[in-house]
Amino acid sequence: MFVDKVRIFVQAGNGGNGAVAFHREKFVAAGGPDGGDGGHGGNIVLRVNDNMSTLMDFRYKRKYSAPNGEDGRGGRCHGKNGENLVISVPRGTVVRDAETGDVICDMHAEGDFILCKGGRGGWGNKHFATPTRQVPRFAKGGLPGESHDVVLELKLLADVGLVGFPNVGKSTLLSVTSNAHPKIANYHFTTLYPNLGVIYVDEGVSFVMADIPGIIEGAAEGAGLGHDFLRHIDRCRLLIHIVDVSGSEGRDPVEDFQKICEELASYSPELASRPMLVAANKLDLLPPDSDNLERLRAYVEERGYEFYEISAATTQGTRELMKTVAGKLSHLPPVRVFEPEYVKPLAEAGDSQELTIQQEDDLWLISGKWLERLMGDINFADYESRMYFDRQLRKSGLFERLEEMGIEDGDIVSIYDWEFEYER
Ligand code: GDP
Ligand code: MG
Repeated sequence: MFVDKVRIFVQAGNGGNGAVAFHREKFVAAGGPDGGDGGHGGNIVLRVNDNMSTLMDFRYKRKYSAPNGEDGRGGRCHGKNGENLVISVPRGTVVRDAETGDVICDMHAEGDFILCKGGRGGWGNKHFATPTRQVPRFAKGGLPGESHDVVLELKLLADVGLVGFPNVGKSTLLSVTSNAHPKIANYHFTTLYPNLGVIYVDEGVSFVMADIPGIIEGAAEGAGLGHDFLRHIDRCRLLIHIVDVSGSEGRDPVEDFQKICEELASYSPELASRPMLVAANKLDLLPPDSDNLERLRAYVEERGYEFYEISAATTQGTRELMKTVAGKLSHLPPVRVFEPEYVKPLAEAGDSQELTIQQEDDLWLISGKWLERLMGDINFADYESRMYFDRQLRKSGLFERLEEMGIEDGDIVSIYDWEFEYER
């Protein structure tokens, strides 16, 4: 079974909590606070694995979670960071947000992609010791890791896509021109996997060709097999449309050609306008009295397509066709890559009444669910991001609440791993 589209849920690890602990040693009366920080949660990381050719592995496992960071401990012990969870995907996997369908990333090249960030660890009480505050009996909780429902969709990386009715000889052409060994049989829908082959034309000149399972009538509306496989030619730079010109199956080659063009157009008008060559196949079977070849040639050339005659089974004309294709590819833009379009919606502030405010002398410790999520989305190294954070806190009414509770200028507001001096 060929699986090329799955929905999965991924969850990065939560940050570990900071520790409350005090230094203990013989003959040392009152040791200072030495509670360590919590570890960071593990990220969810995607990585291309060229040994994978389908998304099969995801059919039985749909939920992936990276480990949490460990809690901090006494003796200034930092909790262990959660390890990243690396998820292998076949090259060409496009990752989309499950809700909006927006592209998050296109795994077409080497390099890791962090799909979900682990939560930052909470501070231990060693952070809070000052000359006036020697016995801090509090520490911070870790932040939650990001989570996401995503759809993985495999779109093969091939320069050339073979399209045409079932049984016209697509797999045969791939097998006689490339290193691939696709299944060839004289009945419909033998090809249930797209096959990829590398075609070597000359020194330094080669390309990748994909044999897509037959497109049939109604495929673009979801009937039959073809529809699912059309996504594998989305990236192709050039299509070769193969037509059985011999009429060996009792169909008319001109009608076949029209139907496949209609299918391509109803799937995607953009795909229908992709550069395309037409190859009339099974020339060796053409009855001597048939006008199929000339009718098809006239029809195709009238529509501006180049027309080639081949016999895949006897390899007549196949090498020449591959050379022509290589020449055309050298002038065409590279394989299509899907640009990221997903923008993570930033968490927003809730009501300040939902927050827990704890006062320790001049220190005001704030915590709460919506604040955790907001913190996870803020990059404190970035000015814009800090301004957004400030606006959200104002919106929540936090500062009014602190005023009512008696906060004074110069007091410290401490929000997870972010602290600032309060100023009216
Ligand atoms: P696909 O469904 O388009 O991949 O078609 P296949 O490559 O599996 O071929 C279908 C049948 O047609 C097989 O029995 C092939 O041997 C046969 N075939 C393919 N090309 C030719 C050809 O040029 N001449 C002849 N005589 N038979 C061919
Ligand atoms: Mg086939």
